[in-house]
Amino acid sequence: MQYRKDRYGNDLSILGYGCMRFTRKGAGLDVEKAEKELMTAYRAGVNYFDTAYIYPGSEAALGEVLERNGIRDKVNIATKLPQYLIGNRAALDRYFIEELSRLRTDHVDYYLMHHLTDVAMWEKLKKVGILEWIAEKKQSGAIRNIGFSYHGNTDNFLKILNDYDWDFCQIQYNYLDEVAQAGKAGLQAAAGSGIPVVIMEPLRGGKLVNMLPEAAKKAMAESGRNWSPAEWGLRWLYDQPEVTVVLSGMNSTEMVEANCRTASEAAVGSMSEADRETLEKVKAAIREKERVGCTGCRYCMPCPKGVDIPGTFRCWNAMYTESKSGGRSQFIQTVGLTREPAFASQCVRCGKCEQHCPQSIPIREKLQEADRALRPLPYKLAIGVARAFMFRKPSGK
Ligand code: SF4
Ligand code: SF4
Repeated sequence: MQYRKDRYGNDLSILGYGCMRFTRKGAGLDVEKAEKELMTAYRAGVNYFDTAYIYPGSEAALGEVLERNGIRDKVNIATKLPQYLIGNRAALDRYFIEELSRLRTDHVDYYLMHHLTDVAMWEKLKKVGILEWIAEKKQSGAIRNIGFSYHGNTDNFLKILNDYDWDFCQIQYNYLDEVAQAGKAGLQAAAGSGIPVVIMEPLRGGKLVNMLPEAAKKAMAESGRNWSPAEWGLRWLYDQPEVTVVLSGMNSTEMVEANCRTASEAAVGSMSEADRETLEKVKAAIREKERVGCTGCRYCMPCPKGVDIPGTFRCWNAMYTESKSGGRSQFIQTVGLTREPAFASQCVRCGKCEQHCPQSIPIREKLQEADRALRPLPYKLAIGVARAFMFRKPSGK
């Protein structure tokens, strides 16, 4: 295993264990199987274990395994505040105490505001007193490092990053999402400000392994490298010095062993020019199926009406390069549930965006098509209900 440093000089394994995909058994989790996988990773040097309040059974399973094996103090636990459920200050303590109890510990090493998608969500937390709460918890040692996980656009990522003295952050990043969400610009800004960056979805939830088109598999096979599709994805990340930990949601011992092997071999600068060209061919093969040739460059932004143009196009494309439900679910996460609405239906057809698009995309027309595909009526209704719940006013109690 190789290690990179956190903000305070502590060693973090470059492979982190994502605990959201443990195998299910009946109504719960197969804790015995998860224990074998977790302990295989631990013995191979993994020291970063990531879970969250809302991953069903995950915090409790992790806490049980760490306690039974007497290794709580030898590893780092990362877990997350379900910030979308917080309506008042008392709720902060309520969820945190429950998480400590599930994890059978008195402190969390890396604690994240879960799933921020725009700066307004962070502002809402500030209104309920999160800044004072974090200061208390850090002073008492109950939280060692504070950070946030993020799924919105680059602009909002940078605003949140620069608004607080964070210890770390977590972003979605992989070779297909180089310019999506926080993107490379966000990665470099965070690393440039001296904080470690934890990567989630390094393989797009397995899509860069299980759903590669034939032409992409052929490009990998002809590369002369004996790397699996997962290894290509992980090596692309480890090649970048700004990446600190790459999370993988592992649910078999073979997967743990393979990823640990990659994490012991891959290094910054170990990808050649030819390797990069192979990945360009892989991306081109994936993009052939796209509906709109948007590169995510963001020259069209900001839209005066708040439409997330590249975000909408990316999710629309994902409906055809991955799966319909996958594209729609990415849309809900990254565009549909931002506090400031960013829907294509807000477009007033002013045409400003089209003047700046280097791909000459008829943005106005394509946005309408994308919106129809991404938000059929049942989705529109469900997003409306979710928004009403998430963005209700804090009670202030
Ligand atoms: S045409 Fe629509 S999407 Fe483009 S800038 Fe104007 S309002 Fe925004
Ligand atoms: S300018 Fe064009 S290619 Fe770039 S993000 Fe906007 S729509 Fe996509």
